[in-house]
Parts: sequence; structure tokens; C-alpha cells
Amino acid sequence: MKAVRLVQVGKLLEEADIPLPEIGTSDVLIRVRAAGICHSDAHYRAGISQIDHLPLTLGHEIAGRVEKVGRAVTDVSPGDRVCVHYLVHCGNCEFCVRGLEQFCRSGQMIGKDRDGGYAEFIKVPGANALSLPNEIPFEIGAIMMCSSATALHALNKARVKPGESVAIFGFGGLGFSALQLARAFDCGDVYVIEINPAKLASAANMGAIAIDARSADPVEQIKEATAGTGVDVSLELIGSAKTMRQAVLCLGPLGRAALVGLTTETMSILPYIELINKEAEIIGVSDHLATELSVLIDFARCGELQFPAESLRFVDLDAGQINSALDSLQNSLDHVRTIIIPSSDN
Ligand SMILES: [Zn+2]
Ligand SMILES: [Zn+2]
Repeated sequence: MKAVRLVQVGKLLEEADIPLPEIGTSDVLIRVRAAGICHSDAHYRAGISQIDHLPLTLGHEIAGRVEKVGRAVTDVSPGDRVCVHYLVHCGNCEFCVRGLEQFCRSGQMIGKDRDGGYAEFIKVPGANALSLPNEIPFEIGAIMMCSSATALHALNKARVKPGESVAIFGFGGLGFSALQLARAFDCGDVYVIEINPAKLASAANMGAIAIDARSADPVEQIKEATAGTGVDVSLELIGSAKTMRQAVLCLGPLGRAALVGLTTETMSILPYIELINKEAEIIGVSDHLATELSVLIDFARCGELQFPAESLRFVDLDAGQINSALDSLQNSLDHVRTIIIPSSDN
């Protein structure tokens, strides 16, 4: 089969003809119908995030049709439409048995620790193949599995409740989903903090209160808009110590700041006046859980999570097209998502 693979870190991905994966008794073979090209794939190619085994087929945002199932697989059958949960976990370790598979002792990420979806077919454990309803196109099923899933996990970790106000720092792919999901949770006012005018405009169009961080301190702006109180929940989706601190400072009493963005910087907080005094919480968020994906699929099915057609771009399973999509991803200023659609005759 055809696959587009990372052969050497820092070099362009290459097209390869590799054997069709052989499935074990609990695996399924999926004919890939859509594979999202993610920002982290650009990081893998550049060597910013480390890949242990090369060559490797990238791609962790995958949807397709089941081609073949192992004997022990009962939840899906050949011909079924599915999307893929990208974390492969053992199911037996002390974390898996508690439903915390993102900490699995032997966890693997598809498209990083094992071959991913930039290919005609992919093999995954049956437990990772989730039914995709007919109403959700393959391309949406694919891209939901990463940033939307993480945005949902962040809202869950922050325990957002109906009517609560939410501040979203950063309006990229995560923020775009987070705003819609916060709505689906019936939250109150949503503030979107950005410096990019196009993103601020698009957040405002979607009903958020746009906070331009270039014009004045965003914390002051949020305080002013909330009669001095602050918000109930904040999500930091950028990955900078400065915005993480702002996400904590904009909280009101009992507020929860969920930190999702990655940084190696140090964040400083004055424990008494900035945290203890208001019983605020700072919560780390990593990946998402398989159980959350069914909620996400339901939101997408009933239209509460949408990806407008103009925000999607399609490429073939072609190394040249994929490499240039990865190139432009690095400087992306909008919500455009590029999705690989391998040619298929069924
Ligand atoms: Zn991704
Ligand atoms: Zn485990």
C-alpha cells in the first residue's frame, strides 16, 4: 500500500510502498478515507517533538471504513464507518483500570509511536475504532479526534457548569472547538483573548466577547466586563507563561484555570492573593479519554460542533502536497485545516 512517511527528522516526508499491515485477533484494518494534518505532525517532521522509531507513517487524526476485523473484535464489522482514538493503551495497568488511559504504562500514540494514517490503510486495536454516524463526514470525524477532543477534555477537567463564564486564551484549532463546546455545555458568557485581528473577528462572529490583548491588559478587560468579579473557568490554549498567569488572574472566587498549552517557561503566582484567597484551582490537561469521544461525536452529529466548509482544505495522499501543507501549517493565521483524502474506489 501507499504511505507517506517520516524517514529522517528534519527532512521532507517520503512516499513509500509498504506491505499491508497484518492484523492480530483484536485489531481492525481500516481503509483511510480522511487523515487530518496536525500542527504536531509539523513538529515531528522538524524534530521539535521526538520520534523514537523511524521510518514512521505520520497521522493521528483518522477516519475511514473498516476493511477487516480480527476474530476477537465484536464492536465493529467490515464496512462500518469509524474514526480513530489515537491513544493505544493496554487496558490492564493501574491507570487503565481507573479509566485514565492517557497515563497508561505502555501507552502509544498512533502516528508517533506506531504507524499512523498518512496511508491507504491503518491497523489499530478494535477498541480504538469508534463508530462514526452517517451524518458526520469522514473529514470531520478525522479532525475531531485531536484538537476538539482535547478542548472537550479541558472543559471537563475544569468542571464547567451551565451558566458559568469561560475565558478562552488563544483562538486556534483548540479554541475554535472550545468555544462551540462551551456553548454545548450551556455555559454563560465566553471571552476569547487573542492578538490576531482575524481570529478576534471570527470569535466575535461566533458569539464570543472578543478581548484584544494588544489594546489593554486582558485581565483588566475581563474584570471590567464582569463587574470586577472575574470568570468561573479559563482555558489556556497558547502555551506561554504570560497567558497562563493571565488565565489564573482573571478567575473569580472558586475559579478553575485549565492549562493546555505547552511551554518550558516558569509561571509565577502569588499564592495568597492570587490563588488561596479565592480558592482558585490550576489544572493541568493532557490529551483526552476514549469515553469523551462519544460525547464529541454526539455534539457533532447534532450540529453543536461544526467546521465550516471554507475552513477545510483537501490534499491527496501525495508527499509533495502533504509536505507543503506541513510547511504552511507552521505560520497558519486562520482556522484552515488540511485533510488528506486518499483516492478510493469504494
Ligand atoms: Zn492532532
Ligand atoms: Zn495501561
